[in-house]
Amino acid sequence: MIVNAHTHLYSALVPRFPASGEHVREERRDFLAILESLWWPLDRTLDERSLRAAARLYVAEARLAGTDVLIDHHESPNFIEGSLDVIADACQELGVSALVCYGATERNGGASEARQGLAECRRFITSNRRPLVRGAVGLHAAFTVSDETMRAAGRLCRELGAPLHVHVAEDAIDAKGFARLVANDALVPGSILAHGVHLTEEEVRHADLLGCWFVQNPRSNEANGVGYPSALRASSRVALGTDGFPSNIDDEVEVILHRESADVIAQRDGAGEVLARELGLRGRQPATFDIDAIRAEAAKEAERLWERMNESQCAVAPYR
Ligand SMILES: [Zn+2]
Repeated sequence: MIVNAHTHLYSALVPRFPASGEHVREERRDFLAILESLWWPLDRTLDERSLRAAARLYVAEARLAGTDVLIDHHESPNFIEGSLDVIADACQELGVSALVCYGATERNGGASEARQGLAECRRFITSNRRPLVRGAVGLHAAFTVSDETMRAAGRLCRELGAPLHVHVAEDAIDAKGFARLVANDALVPGSILAHGVHLTEEEVRHADLLGCWFVQNPRSNEANGVGYPSALRASSRVALGTDGFPSNIDDEVEVILHRESADVIAQRDGAGEVLARELGLRGRQPATFDIDAIRAEAAKEAERLWERMNESQCAVAPYR
């Protein structure tokens, strides 16, 4: 079973933008600049149409690349309620098993925005009846939420029996993220911590004791220049994800071939299947779809999304 243990379906339209990369500021190419210049304006601009086109394209291409299970982390601050249904419908219709969540954050609208994000997770988890799809509770990352939001996420996980899915210590800006998640009792067994680049081995062992999973995203870490997650060698539960890159796990393995032993690579390559079977994700099912039509719709929506992003650039308020 091929499992992509951390990705973002909403990112699928970016490679089809008329001039991809232009949004990243020339003078700054650090992690926060990449978020502020591309990913956050993008997620603020997503609406139902563009999200549907992105999700269908990502899932269809993932299936064609052999993916059985996708673990998605989603944010669309101006289209929160109902967004997980759009993603889940794409996965169910295209026959790919998935765990979905909304990554609650306070970076646009403060505590109210975070409450809406957690409410979307609750709504989806309690109402979803799609056999191929499950729901998780999501936080964007510790550095964009308050302690109270973390505590609320932990309570929701325990109430619904769902794991937490959150970015942790992807960049030095979030180096204290794990300690805050622990202090606020946000982590439950089975939680999925994406990245862990700036964690110590002691923190990784602590997460292991709590029953958490890590997901290493080699291409993304390299592209964002955030560093290498060496401390993850202290965990026995490390799966691989593509973090918005096309869903090809072999390409992720390629990046770590010169960094890790064959045993470690084999363990990480196979860990996703173990994670999926804990989560009760059964893998892909037969489905028929018209990939040319899906790609054509994606191209059309990519152009519309690009234009709307450019129109709203002056209204963008970067996170501080
Ligand atoms: Zn991510």
